[in-house]
Amino acid sequence: MSAHRKSGLVYGALLSLVGLAGCQHGPSINWGHLSRNQDSRVQFIVVHATEIDFPTSLQVLTRGDVSSHYLVDRDGTIYGLVPESRRAWHAGPSYWEGATPLNPSSIGIEIVSVPTGMPEATEAGFPEAQITAVERLVADIAQRHEVRPDRIVGHGEVQPEGRTDPGRLFPWQRLIAKGLVPTTDPRLVEQFTQDFQNHGLPDLNWVQSRLSLQGYQVPCTGDLDPPTRRVLSVFQGRYRQSLITGEPDVETLAILAALTSPGGRRVLSPTEGWRDFQPDPPLHSHCPSR
Ligand SMILES: [Zn+2]
Repeated sequence: MSAHRKSGLVYGALLSLVGLAGCQHGPSINWGHLSRNQDSRVQFIVVHATEIDFPTSLQVLTRGDVSSHYLVDRDGTIYGLVPESRRAWHAGPSYWEGATPLNPSSIGIEIVSVPTGMPEATEAGFPEAQITAVERLVADIAQRHEVRPDRIVGHGEVQPEGRTDPGRLFPWQRLIAKGLVPTTDPRLVEQFTQDFQNHGLPDLNWVQSRLSLQGYQVPCTGDLDPPTRRVLSVFQGRYRQSLITGEPDVETLAILAALTSPGGRRVLSPTEGWRDFQPDPPLHSHCPSR
């Protein structure tokens, strides 16, 4: 941070104090009757991977034309780049559970995913120190803003047109283990697997309807068109990371069926163990399932 920026912040803080005293700038406001009907502007947390090394990530996110609230380096250092009260430019044309675009209502976390000196978009795992920092940061943001587990998502999930980060190497199971994001009961996945193997796979109308129910923006065409394949691929990148071709195979559809069936989503509570998690009000699909 430059000295100029620092002095700007100090100056801003002084102005705020003056404002609190009610001396300057703007009308006098009586704040004595706060409404109980309010919640945080922050409804979503979007997890990214930078696909470039740390020095380049910092340059792009502070001096380029995009930004994020936080940048987590590979050694676990967390950099705050944009205050949470302000909008960062991290998600572009994005959609989740009917909300669009997500920049005004989300916190963006960029995770450095390429070791310094390696080529751009190198596929490398995330070091332990970095993932521990991400866990703590997501937990803290989710707790302070009461962000629902189903609203902590990957960038590719909310912008499947051209984005896949944080990618198939991001360990979502670590966030599941901390009770931050939902997962499904493996026994339910097994039941659907048996069902699909015995009776055949559901059709593409069903697939699109269930992807929509899960929160994705997907066309309701009944075809495995390129946008649907991209959504399936980012779904696999999160829930079935071994194969991310976008092919609607038995395993992929069994996981999707389990997640979107009544009682199919669960979150780990540190005190109560697994508990059923259903968004309230319930989500609905934008695609009819015939
Ligand atoms: Zn991203």
